[in-house]
Amino acid sequence: MSTHPLPALEIKSLTKRFGAKTAVSDFNLTLAPGSFYGLLGANGAGKTTTMRMIAGLLQADEGSICVFGHDVGKDPRAVKSITAWLPDEPLLYDKLTPLEYLEFIAGLWSVEGSVAEKRAEELLRWMDLWEERDKRCETFSRGMKQKTALAGALLHDPKLLLLDEPFSGLDAAVARQVKELLVEKTKEGATIVLTTHVMEIAERLAERVGIFHRGRLLADGSLADLRAQAGQAEGSLEDIFIQLVDDASVGSPA
Ligand code: ATP
Repeated sequence: MSTHPLPALEIKSLTKRFGAKTAVSDFNLTLAPGSFYGLLGANGAGKTTTMRMIAGLLQADEGSICVFGHDVGKDPRAVKSITAWLPDEPLLYDKLTPLEYLEFIAGLWSVEGSVAEKRAEELLRWMDLWEERDKRCETFSRGMKQKTALAGALLHDPKLLLLDEPFSGLDAAVARQVKELLVEKTKEGATIVLTTHVMEIAERLAERVGIFHRGRLLADGSLADLRAQAGQAEGSLEDIFIQLVDDASVGSPA
């Protein structure tokens, strides 16, 4: 019997072009189950394009993506059934209440009724939305909608969570709740890939960070690895990020 568990995520030579523009170029990444990976990069660096390919929403031009051994290109349904995708601007059905929305999501994923009910209650309580469970989402603030969408993304108990800017628009207290929930999920064995422009979030949550620049992975590793790559003994992730991106930009065409 193999002692090596399947990687949660294995990406090889991933490339995506939009016309003459190469949005993602020869990206490679392997993550073990339980990892928390932060993907950083300036606007237009290729983060969302990468996440959408992993989620099976966008076809790669080259390369392969496997989620717990399932190839996204060959078996997208198997991948989707164990993956959560939270876009930066999630779509909710505004006329539904959070409970109705979660029931609807449970139906999509064929989550058994009593299991779905229990998970919906747990998630809504965790997000402090239980009291609002019968109010229509159209009356919610942006943060409440974001939390409802996150509850929906977690309802089928995914093993891989792809979260695109999950903290944008959340107030400090809500952001803390969501951070705690995500850390709890990794302790339970889930793997998280998160994009963010907030360096402090990546520094605090992610044990490993990738820096994207113009479609390429410029650097990848722990904060200590990135410091070594930047030749800085100290410095925050923000310092390192800015230095690595500046160094890469010097002399290279946009
Ligand atoms: P941001 O931080 O602003 O969200 P990002 O790193 O997520 O940026 P992407 O959205 O992946 O960046 O975009 C990468 C590049 O691919 C950009 O140059 C963008 O204009 C281009 N791009 C993305 N989607 C499309 C599309 N559907 N058609 C054409 N070009 C696209």
